[in-house]
Amino acid sequence: MRTCRFRHSGRERYGAIEGDRVRAMSAAPWDGGLPEGAPIALGEVTLLAPAVPTKIVAVGRNYRAHAKELGNEIPKEPLLFIKPSTAIIGPGDPIRIPEASKEVHHEAELACVIARTLSGALTATEARAAIFGWTCLNDVTARDIQRAEGHFTRAKSFDSFCPIGPVIETDLDPMDAGVLCRVNGEVRQRGSTRDLVFDPYLLVAFISQVMTLLPGDIVSTGTPEGVGPLRRGDPVEVEVPKVGILRNPVV
Ligand code: ZN
Repeated sequence: MRTCRFRHSGRERYGAIEGDRVRAMSAAPWDGGLPEGAPIALGEVTLLAPAVPTKIVAVGRNYRAHAKELGNEIPKEPLLFIKPSTAIIGPGDPIRIPEASKEVHHEAELACVIARTLSGALTATEARAAIFGWTCLNDVTARDIQRAEGHFTRAKSFDSFCPIGPVIETDLDPMDAGVLCRVNGEVRQRGSTRDLVFDPYLLVAFISQVMTLLPGDIVSTGTPEGVGPLRRGDPVEVEVPKVGILRNPVV
């Protein structure tokens, strides 16, 4: 199943994608929403970020080669941080480079969308059952600010620093998924979740021991090696085969 959120005739709705058409849903797909009404051609709607999370929980240094390229050790436990929901933009929306940074990087990531309220010490198997589906996320980062401060919050929280989409795919093997990034059509990152330090199910279980995850919340699983700078005018694409391509201009 593939789901999305979209704008059409001034209304924002969840949608179920059927081929090249979309049908509006009565509620979020993880809240029991069902398709209703006539199908609309995808070309006639504007796709939005496919979920409205209360938070995005992300993880640093979760691919061995990426930890190494930034000169870091591989963490013994997941290194969590949060991106604010206000950083989210949808497919096609511009990533805005702030005045405060001279070095803004792309980070292509596979992310999951949580289906129900999760708290307490879950097993990886329980975590797996609580994931609705999978999407692409660009964990845009002001690398110079991150390096200078040692903290992640300011560097990763600027408005527009969290493109998500284009859709959610429920049928994906997250243990063997490709994660790619292209800038101006040139491949910058080409990774596989086979190289993850902590797999997505372990991550969700670990996070649930710290904070309650709510339906629609997003957990991003880290970025493979090859992170690098974005410049104004560069279109950037994050691709997870089977999910799709998340494309955003940089301004
Ligand atoms: Zn990241």
